[in-house]
Amino acid sequence: MRLVDAHCHLQDEEFDQDRDYVVERARESGVVSIVTSSLNSLDASKALAVGRNYPDYVYVCIGSNPSNLDLKETSYLMSIIEKHRSSIVGVGEVGLDYYWVRENQYREIQRSLFREWIGFVEELRLPLIVHSRSAGKYAVQILLETNFRQVLMHAFDGRIGWATKAAREGVYFSIPTSVWHSRQKQKLVKELPLDSLLVESDSPVLSPIKEKRNEPANLVYAVRKIAELKGVSEDEVAEKTTVNARKFFNLKTRNLQ
Ligand SMILES: [Zn+2]
Repeated sequence: MRLVDAHCHLQDEEFDQDRDYVVERARESGVVSIVTSSLNSLDASKALAVGRNYPDYVYVCIGSNPSNLDLKETSYLMSIIEKHRSSIVGVGEVGLDYYWVRENQYREIQRSLFREWIGFVEELRLPLIVHSRSAGKYAVQILLETNFRQVLMHAFDGRIGWATKAAREGVYFSIPTSVWHSRQKQKLVKELPLDSLLVESDSPVLSPIKEKRNEPANLVYAVRKIAELKGVSEDEVAEKTTVNARKFFNLKTRNLQ
């Protein structure tokens, strides 16, 4: 089985003590590539360092925590992305978080920053990973206002109707390992075609086993659950999601085993 972890945070301090072992276990479980996403400038440099440590295995995305509403930090992050354009495979995560940001005036800033990010990646021709906690509808609406479609909605928690609408437009969805117990994620899997799906661990969070640190090796749980829900083999889920991930991040042209 060959799997791509489309979204996680491997540079997180939770992995500082045993990152080599985490990567080793991922390789043993069939994970052939890991895409790690960062949330601020410090996190970005750490992610780039982790990427250099595992060449042709860990790929890096640079993004901005959606709760960060600082314009200066945002433009600084954009300059970092331009500088490292050739060492990264995408921009993310960015997006909306209505769970942490409650006030309308701040949500408005989030929406305008999100629009800026979309314009930015469109120009750079990089794929975009979108975070949309408690704001699925708004994130999809903003995306569909634009013509940009190289988008991965990660751990989507919104209404299924908005997900299917986006998927019909060519937007991808990565299903997290928490699909093992999350009814909402299971519903998402049932309604979306396999052609729109990738898998992610979102390590160190969204573990299949609640309260436990998550790691990329747990992707097999997502594959097992998707196979069960779709009534197809685990191999088929692995193959489809890996093809989708390679296409989305343009990993094909890179040196993959
Ligand atoms: Zn994440």
